[in-house]
Amino acid sequence: MSGRLKRGSDMFRDSIDALEAKLGLERRTFLKFCAAMAATMGLPKGAEAQIAQAISTPAKRPSVIWLHFQECTGCTESLLRAEHPTIEKLILEIISLDYHESLFAAAGHQAEAARYAAMAANKGKYVLVVEGAIPVKDGGIYCKIGGKTALDILKECAADAAAIIAIGSCASWGGMPSTPPNPTGASPVNAIIKDKPVVTIPGCPPNPYNFLSTVVHYLTFGSLPKIDAEGRPLFAYSRLIHENCERRAHYDAGRFAMEFGDEGHRKGYCLYKLGCKGPETYANCPSILFGDVGSGSWPVGTGHPCFGCTEKGVGFYKPIHQLADVKNVVPPASYPRVVEEQGVGATLGSAALVAAVAGLAAGAGYKVAGNLGKNSSGSDKDSAE
Ligand code: SF4
Repeated sequence: MSGRLKRGSDMFRDSIDALEAKLGLERRTFLKFCAAMAATMGLPKGAEAQIAQAISTPAKRPSVIWLHFQECTGCTESLLRAEHPTIEKLILEIISLDYHESLFAAAGHQAEAARYAAMAANKGKYVLVVEGAIPVKDGGIYCKIGGKTALDILKECAADAAAIIAIGSCASWGGMPSTPPNPTGASPVNAIIKDKPVVTIPGCPPNPYNFLSTVVHYLTFGSLPKIDAEGRPLFAYSRLIHENCERRAHYDAGRFAMEFGDEGHRKGYCLYKLGCKGPETYANCPSILFGDVGSGSWPVGTGHPCFGCTEKGVGFYKPIHQLADVKNVVPPASYPRVVEEQGVGATLGSAALVAAVAGLAAGAGYKVAGNLGKNSSGSDKDSAE
């Protein structure tokens, strides 16, 4: 970016003042937002000033064309329902959202005309955002808009796009529409567009901050962020959920919820034995949370095992009862139950152990074992009931 404004200079202050009026944001809030974006993306010191400059003095709002294909619109919903006061304003004020079927006032031919006009006016410069998988079977006839298949629309829009972002699990790796038997041949964007990089922001729904940070990176540096082998920005998807989970201490200590609603579950123990896929899923959910409603606002925080929605081959593919492939420390299978009721839950094994420690003969051990299950009067529990 040319002519960088110096933080603290009069021009920099003026541009922030202008933004204050435009977005209805206080200077402090806006600068805090820029610093948070820089920290989220792992950018070096000083990057927040570049971000502030790029957002407050854009040469031209970048044109964004947002396509919807096989999906539930959850990605758009997630973006709009974020409670952070700046998200909606930044998206609507900083970029030029020239085509978005769900948010458009226009319909039918008018909407299609707007797409063509935006593509022509911003040839080679617009950002293409794709939400949803693309059916490719039978020539792609299972999803059509304005008489054209999703397949053709995607190819047409991708040809002159400056950058492509696949938002959500469906666009990133096929998501739910691609689960077997996948009768429509639902496919991700990067299986169809091979001649340019596609940044994927998987999640069902994806976290709006991961999308916003990617857009801000593009606005600030004129390039998309560094990505992993799956096309996911490293700043958001380079760490396992398991590494940052607030229940991790329970995992390491062997304290697991064994059933939904049991005492371990109520006490906030680790959800691994309930099928949590955090140990094999890369995402920053535990760090950045959802919906700006405070701590615990993510699936594991609310007591549900991680579903693995950001991970190809895990979310929608592996059943929830199947244990995760743990990529680091695997807990032993033989941890004792952590919520055994005191005094009534002794097992044959533990009773035998107590007997052995007390130095009793094997016969005495059998006697202890034989007494298990009898009530205080000495009769068999079952027969007394
Ligand atoms: S298994 Fe799931 S709940 Fe347990 S520590 Fe890992 S991510 Fe958290």
